[in-house]
Amino acid sequence: MPATPAPPAAPTTRPAPVAAAGPVPLAVEGGLPVLYAPRWQPTRTTTSPWLSAWPRPVRFLPTRSGPLSGQVIALDPGHDIGNGRHVSQINRTYWVGFTKACNTTGTATNGGYAEATFTFDVVARLRRLLTAAGATVVVTRDRNTVDTYGPCIGARGLFGGQQKARLMVQVHADGGPSSGHGFHTIVPAASSLGSTRLTAAQDKVLAAAMIAGMRSRGFVPATYLSSPLSVRTDQGAMTVSTVPIVTVETLNMRNAGDSAVATSATGRQRIALGLYAGILRYLGH
Ligand SMILES: [Zn+2]
Repeated sequence: MPATPAPPAAPTTRPAPVAAAGPVPLAVEGGLPVLYAPRWQPTRTTTSPWLSAWPRPVRFLPTRSGPLSGQVIALDPGHDIGNGRHVSQINRTYWVGFTKACNTTGTATNGGYAEATFTFDVVARLRRLLTAAGATVVVTRDRNTVDTYGPCIGARGLFGGQQKARLMVQVHADGGPSSGHGFHTIVPAASSLGSTRLTAAQDKVLAAAMIAGMRSRGFVPATYLSSPLSVRTDQGAMTVSTVPIVTVETLNMRNAGDSAVATSATGRQRIALGLYAGILRYLGH
């Protein structure tokens, strides 16, 4: 007599997240899955809790002791894959020392691999390296799904200081001319209107360390720029940071060679190792 077939699985009450390439959400990795909701500054005078429509900020505890024991490092994976589905929300403007839109959709490879998905995966890899060296790592978003958008840039920029992080690295990829390749870093100008003028000198030291770290893993400064360090006055998130902060445009997604790096797990790990080397260097290791 044939075995009784298994009953059909009970329907799930919640739809599965869509297209969440990258790290497994934190609940399964130990530590505290969701931080208390930090506040951010939507206008010059008001603050607001982290919005429920945003991904949640998360904290990862050290997995081993090591040279970074006792350090808190903040990481910000650029954009969110849901930004494209929330156009009116991400175009709404907020105050970050000046008025700027909440966020953007980011770029993509010509084959359609999104920057938001790339940054999420690279940050997960970098975070694992850091926690294995003893660091506590706080990350601005715990997911990469079409259901969420943001966080807005002001919230990202304030995050490192709120978490008492030693520094913050914002991970991005550029959409530059297809003929050019390589990485570059961006820091806010000391004359920016936000609080970052307090850390501008250290931002440059951090950027120099990240450039050296990326070079140590064989990456080259962007061939389409005159310098691997851009100092800009239009940076919304970095302008409000109260801790040393840098944006690393890790490669050019529109370049064929760089997009091959972006779409390969080996390539993304190598980028994470370059960023890790930069953070270690900045912290004196
Ligand atoms: Zn970006």
